[in-house]
Amino acid sequence: MNTELDWSNLSFGYIPTDYNVRCRYSNGKWGEIEVSSSEIINMHMAATALHYGQEIFEGLKAFRGKDGKVRIFRLEENAKRIQSSATGIKMAPVPEDIFRKMVIEAVRLNARFIPPYGSGASLYIRPLEIGMSAQIGVHPASEYLFMVMVTPVGPYFKEGFRPTNICIMREFDRVAPKGTGRWKVGGNYAASLEAGERAHELGYSAVLYLDPKEKKYVDECGPANFFAIKDGVYITPASESILPSVTNKSLMTLAEDMGIKVEARHITVDELGEIDEAAACGTAAVASPIAEIHDLDNDTKYIVSPDGEPGPITTKLYNKLRAVQLGEEPDEHSWNTIVEGV
Ligand SMILES: *Cc1c(COP(=O)(O)O)cnc(C)c1O
Repeated sequence: MNTELDWSNLSFGYIPTDYNVRCRYSNGKWGEIEVSSSEIINMHMAATALHYGQEIFEGLKAFRGKDGKVRIFRLEENAKRIQSSATGIKMAPVPEDIFRKMVIEAVRLNARFIPPYGSGASLYIRPLEIGMSAQIGVHPASEYLFMVMVTPVGPYFKEGFRPTNICIMREFDRVAPKGTGRWKVGGNYAASLEAGERAHELGYSAVLYLDPKEKKYVDECGPANFFAIKDGVYITPASESILPSVTNKSLMTLAEDMGIKVEARHITVDELGEIDEAAACGTAAVASPIAEIHDLDNDTKYIVSPDGEPGPITTKLYNKLRAVQLGEEPDEHSWNTIVEGV
C-alpha cells in the first residue's frame, strides 16, 4: 500500500507508478512481453504514430473490493475493442491472450497503487498501441508497440453525484459519417478538443455531438456515450459513428435485468424535449447525469432535471454497476476478472 497518496482527492491526471508492460510486433509476429520501469518510449522520429496518427488506445479500471480482492472490469470487452480499432486503421491486432496477460501483469506489478476500498478511487488502466516503423510514405507500419500503463485516479464525483449542463454546437463534428468514430483512435480526440474547450469556456461539461451526416440525431456526449430515460425506457443512440461503450453496454444489461426496456435507436434533437432523465456514460464516471441541454445554435434549452437532481433510474443503474465493480453485489454476468495474489 502506498501511504503517501491522498486517494480521495486524486484527479483524473497522471501519477507515476512503478512499471509498465510492453510487447512489440515485427516481422509479422508479436514478441515476448517485457516489463519496463521507464516512463519513456524510445521511438523513431519518422514513426507512423507521429505523422499519420496510427494510434489506438483503451481505458478500463481495477478496483479493490469490499472483500479485499482486486477486480478488473470486463477486460475481454476492451481486448475485443482494441482489435476492432486496430483492424479499422490497419494496425496489427493484439491477440486477446496477450492483452489479458499484460493488463493483469500491469495491475499486479503496481499493486501498491490500487486505491483502498471505500476511497472512491480506482486504478485506471491505459493500454495503447502505436505504429513504430520509420517511413514517410502514407501506408500502414510493419512494426508496432503495444503497451499497458496504469495510474491511480480519484473518484469522478468529488462533490457528489450531481447533474451538469451540456450543449449542442453544430459548428464541429467529432468524426465523419463513415469515419473512425467507431474505433478508439487518438485522432478522434484531437478532433474534439476545439469544440470541447469552447464548451468548457462557456460553462458546459461537454458537447452533445449530433450525427455528422444529417445533424438530426444525437450521437455522443463528448468522449462518452449518451443515454436517456423516456417513459421508463432506456434509450441510447444507434449510429455507426459512435464508439461502442463497454459501460453503456453494461448499463443496458443491468437495465434489462431490472425489467427496464432498452432501445438502441435514433434519438432526434426534438425528442430531447420529452426525456425524463439523461446521462453521459463511460469508464471514467460510469454515468454522469445531465441537468440541461442547451442548443446554442437556436437558443433552445431542454431542461432534463428541473430540480437539479439525478434521475431515479440513472441513480439506480449507477449504484448497481459500481456495486458489481466493488464486489458489493454478485457479479451475475461474470464481468470481473479477479487478480490473484495482490
Ligand atoms: C472510450 C469512449 C467511450 C466510453 O467507453 P467505455 O468503454 O464505456 O469507457 C465513449 N465514447 C468515446 C468516444 C470513447 O472514446
